[in-house]
Amino acid sequence: MKLLEFEAKKIFSGYGIPVPKAACIRRPGEIPSVLPEIGGAVVLKAQVDVGGRGKSGGILIADAGTAEETARELFARTIKGVPVEEILVEERLPIEREYYLSISVDRSSKQPIILFADAGGVDIETAARERPDAVRKATVTPLLREVPPFLLRELVGGAPRGIGQIINRLYRVFLEKDALLAEINPLVTTPSGLYAADAKLIIDDNALARQGISVNRDLTEREQEAEKYGFSYVELDGTIGVIGNGAGLTMSTLDLIEFYSGKAANFLDVGGGADQERVMHAVRLVASMPSVKVIVVNLLGGITRCDDVARGIVDAGVPQQVFVRLAGTNEEEGKRLLAGHGYTMFESMDLAVRAAVEVSQ
Ligand code: GDP
Ligand code: MN
Repeated sequence: MKLLEFEAKKIFSGYGIPVPKAACIRRPGEIPSVLPEIGGAVVLKAQVDVGGRGKSGGILIADAGTAEETARELFARTIKGVPVEEILVEERLPIEREYYLSISVDRSSKQPIILFADAGGVDIETAARERPDAVRKATVTPLLREVPPFLLRELVGGAPRGIGQIINRLYRVFLEKDALLAEINPLVTTPSGLYAADAKLIIDDNALARQGISVNRDLTEREQEAEKYGFSYVELDGTIGVIGNGAGLTMSTLDLIEFYSGKAANFLDVGGGADQERVMHAVRLVASMPSVKVIVVNLLGGITRCDDVARGIVDAGVPQQVFVRLAGTNEEEGKRLLAGHGYTMFESMDLAVRAAVEVSQ
């Protein structure tokens, strides 16, 4: 899950990384109450989760006299389609130089990798392409709680030495917050020292419980719902809803839809031992996508009993047509139940999928 800049800065600051004086506001009217402790010269930064925010008009400069009006202007904007609901009001730093610092997971060595570049700021990608020597890298075994001094020296090179300490502090954030990415871009020098002028922190979704985060904000409401029931669920852009049990069976249902030139609206694996209630929730969840015109349920009864599945489908009572293929334990009873409620049953997944593709077109 991605944290917003002000959330990441709060954490960085807790680990001793200097950040500018700042306050987060939700209305322009809050400006007069926050300015006294921040100062007159400020930067207003939209708290939106989009890349290239500065270049897309998400960052405005203001002074004591213009800050409220500028905040009003920024609140009225959408940055790459995202509305501005929170603004970070920050003291404007007299920046001398900008550096780039990040720690992420290196997939080939399976270790944290630290990147440091003399050329930071908004154009780091271009700088890295044109001057690859400006970017220095080091991988560190996560068994170490600190970055060894010789690696720090190699990374920092001729840049201010205080950066070594900031790298170590960011490395602790990275380890202790179960991060996939911890980034400071730019890390800046000013007459009063180094500051993290921007901050990014992505927490590994698998560690959210350990980090005490109960809701993954990066998920849609439906994805959060799916997580609650333990479904493997991915939204796609087609019109045929898909429910299967087992990743293999569900994937092959998607493949078959594709084979018959249909488009799946989702992937949903209800998992093992799907009972009546779980099936009902799965069907309702898929049906709640506005794009779904027809639903294919493709389930194999092992521990799962086909009659339970059938009851779940009937309980769901969704408006879309539901095409069902059931095979296995209590198959006949399941089929009788569904037929009794006007559902169409198919003898094979091939037939079910073909019928669904036809309805979807
Ligand atoms: P991003 O576009 O989302 O990466 O936003 P940043 O927070 O990194 O800001 C983009 C750029 O705005 C930085 O690289 C700086 O050049 C500039 N900037 C941000 N904060 C300040 C500040 O306090 N003072 C000055 N002079 N420039 C700033
Ligand atoms: Mn930035």
